[in-house]
Parts: sequence; C-alpha cells; structure tokens
Amino acid sequence: MTKSPQDLQIAILGAGMGGLTCALALAQEGFKNIDIYEYASDLGFVGAGIQLAPNMARVLDRLGVWKGIEAEAVNIEETSVRVGATDSELAHVELQYIKDTYGYPHMVGHRSSLSNGLYQGCLRYPNIKFHFSTSAGNVDSFGPRPSFTATPRDSSQAPYRVEADVLLGADGIKSNTRVAMMDKLGIQTGVKDTNQAAYRIMIHKDQIKEDDTELLELINGNKVTRWIGEKRHIIAYPVSNNTIYNLSTVQPDTNFAAATNATYTTRGSKKTMLEVFGDFCPMVQRMLNYVPEGEVCEWKLRVHEPLETWVHESTALVGDACHPTLPHLAQGAAQAIEDGAVIAIALSLLPDTTPASIAKALKVYEKVRKDRAYALVDLAAASGRALHLGDGAAKEERDKQFAALKKGNGPVPDKWADADVQKIIYGFDCQEETREKFNEYFA
Ligand SMILES: Cc1cc2nc3c(=O)[nH]c(=O)nc-3n(C[C@H](O)[C@H](O)[C@H](O)COP(=O)(O)OP(=O)(O)OC[C@H]3O[C@@H](n4cnc5c(N)ncnc54)[C@H](O)[C@@H]3O)c2cc1C
Repeated sequence: MTKSPQDLQIAILGAGMGGLTCALALAQEGFKNIDIYEYASDLGFVGAGIQLAPNMARVLDRLGVWKGIEAEAVNIEETSVRVGATDSELAHVELQYIKDTYGYPHMVGHRSSLSNGLYQGCLRYPNIKFHFSTSAGNVDSFGPRPSFTATPRDSSQAPYRVEADVLLGADGIKSNTRVAMMDKLGIQTGVKDTNQAAYRIMIHKDQIKEDDTELLELINGNKVTRWIGEKRHIIAYPVSNNTIYNLSTVQPDTNFAAATNATYTTRGSKKTMLEVFGDFCPMVQRMLNYVPEGEVCEWKLRVHEPLETWVHESTALVGDACHPTLPHLAQGAAQAIEDGAVIAIALSLLPDTTPASIAKALKVYEKVRKDRAYALVDLAAASGRALHLGDGAAKEERDKQFAALKKGNGPVPDKWADADVQKIIYGFDCQEETREKFNEYFA
C-alpha cells in the first residue's frame, strides 16, 4: 500500500508558538505521527502580554482554538501614541474598523492564554505526542531521514536517536537546528545586534491604588498606549479580561552588551529601570513603581541576519529560528503561527511521499513565507527607528506626520497602527495563498 502524506513521521523541535501550531495544524490535516520535543518541563509560561492580530486570529480560528483564547482576551478599540516626557498625545487611531475589514478584531491577551489554547488544541489529538524535558541536538541528517539526538533531562534516562520523515526546527532564536543547517550548507550567519533590551511588566488590578484613577481607567479600557522618547518607548495594554495591565518597554541595551550570545534574560534592577525612564511623565513613573522589587525582568532583543534558506532536504526552520524580529510590529508569534499553518497545508498537498517531494513541499512553505516574514522584520525595525528618534530633522519630519494624522490624514509612524501596513499584514491569508500557489511553486 502506498504511503499517504498523513502517514509521514513528523518530528518538531520546540513547543513554542511555532512548534505548537505546526503540530496542531498537521493533526488537523490528518497527520497521524507527530512528535514534539521540548527542552522545558512545561510550556514555561512567561508573564507577559501579546498582541493577537487578525492574521493570527484567522489561523487560530481555523485550527479551532480561537474561541477559548478570545474569551480571555481584550478587544482593542483604539490606540494612542504619546510623548513619554509629557504624556501629550501625538496620535490617536480608532481600530474598530479592523473587525469589519479583516473579519477579526485586534485583540491582546496573556501569552499563557495563547500557548495554553494551542496546547489544549493539540491535546485533542492523541496522534500528537509531547516529549517535555527533552533537549534536541546534534541534528546529523537533514534528509532523506532527518535525525537528531534527544536527551531527557532526567539523567537516569539515556539519550536516544530520533529519525523522522520530516524535521521541523521550531527551537526559537537560539535554534540549534538553524546553526546545524547553516553549518551543513556552509552559509555564514550572523547575529545582528539590535542594541535594544526590554522590561516586561504586569500590574495586577488589586495592586492598583483606589485613588489611581488614571491607571484604573487604562486597565478597565480597550486601548493600546505607547509612550515614546529618544531610544526608548513603553507599550501598554490591559490583558486577561482587564484584570492585568501589561507593559513592555524598549530601551538601549547596556546590561547585555558585554554578555555572551547565550544570555537573553536577566533579573533587572528596579532602580535602574526607574532611571532609564526617569524623564518620562509622572503617570509612567507611577506605573513602573508598582513593580515589586526583585520582579523586574529584562530581555535582550535579538535578531539575526536574514537566512538564504529555511529548508534543507526534509528539514525546515520555523518561527524565531529563521525570522526573529523586533517586537515593534507585534508580529513575531503571529508569523510563527503563519509558518505552522502553511507547512501543514504544503505537506498535506504532497502528491507522493518521496524525500524529493517533501523537500519541494517545504520549499513551497519557504516561498509563501520567507519574503513576507523578512519584509515584516524590516518594517518592525524601521518602525522602532521612527519611534526612537532624538531631536533633529528626521524627528521633525515624523512629528509632522503625527500632526497631519491629528488633522485626519496621512500615515501612522507607529506602523502596526497604520491602515496600509495593516492591509499588508492582516489582509494576507497565508493558508489560502498556500493552497492557491501550491502547484505553481511545487512544479
Ligand atoms: C518583548 C517582546 C514582545 C513581543 N510581543 C509580541 C506580540 O505582541 N505579538 C507577537 O505576535 N509576537 C510578539 N513577540 C514575539 C514572539 O514572542 C516570538 O516571535 C515567538 O514567541 C516565537 O515563537 P517560536 O515558537 O518561534 O519560538 P519560541 O517561543 O522561542 O519557542 C521555542 C521553543 O523551543 C524550545 N527549545 C529551544 N531549544 C531547544 C532544544 N534544543 N530542544 C528542545 N526544545 C528546544 C524552547 O524551550 C522554546 O519552548 C514579542 C517578543 C518580545 C521579545
């Protein structure tokens, strides 16, 4: 009996947003043998918010997990861009039209809600097997039978070799799979220093003082607020049914500058954080002061040079492993989720299961996704540069755009809120595109 694509053995490295979506989307396409190897002992819920843009929601809805995630999320109706130092408003953009235009509202949520929603979706399929506390490394073959070594954290269990028909490296920014693939292909890759770091903060409603009406209004509202200043900004919105106010900052990286590439997060100092935003308005100061001492977590924001390819033989890279991005467009996870959805469709459309066809189907994935993902990486970096301008001609030009916007027309310098940019990002149906273009790209 000939093997159908759904009989292929799929190994996924990493249970982040990209890996979980690959597993769930493949299971929905009828794939029967899906194994997912995750270094952490569980999903490692990071206490942080995440924007759930319509292009992400569309995929999640088709995968049957959006309703649960949506139920815990907050519908964003408006966004305000403000001067950090004075709190004066530079731009105010209504976002309610998004639902009518793209079929889904722009929502924000807790990261744990998103990962847990995807995970619960996966648990509905017994053909997805999770191997937590298992580190995957030494990818020594990329095809025709990709293979790697799985090392359980429990030292009483011996490392074992895993072989599969398809290997998906969704192992994040520090991806071993990327390094091994690029080594094998002799492609030099470099980490691009962003010189940026981020604090991620969550203020719970019961922490907020009763007379802090400004912050209570923000936590109870439906607004994304961005306070900007030279080389820094803070983006903030309520999550978890308006019970938590989530803040994500960006500032020059000083703590990680001397650290090795392997260091990505560190416990930060509250005093330093307050100093970094010391010239921001009293409202921001008050918010940062709510953070309990010892609970300041700082992340290095890392990206790397675009890769020539994401695919070698029967192995493909997914998510941050191949297109890490700055968070300024709030699209990193959305793009990892698009990856998973596209891979599942491309593999399901395989006319046969030879390694040569698998490689071609993975190349279809790359063709649908690579230029788009890198365009958004560039756009996120550009948006960050515009937001972080110091005094000078460029800032004057940007502020003219903000002023024109206030009068009712022109582009939004904060690109995620710009209607033309939204059209590019939210208006693209990656699943439909894969189905439409499969034959052309596969040929
Ligand atoms: C400050 C900040 C704000 C952000 N805001 C947004 C936002 O609002 N919206 C949005 O869409 N995106 C946002 N992002 C981006 C988003 O978080 C990432 O792009 C996304 O999580 C990437 O998913 P991933 O699955 O590719 O990688 P990851 O989430 O990093 O998952 C990789 C997984 O692989 C595992 N792993 C790694 N190595 C191994 C190994 N050797 N063996 C086994 N397992 C391994 C890891 O433990 C991890 O679970 C933000 C990022 C930052 C830093």
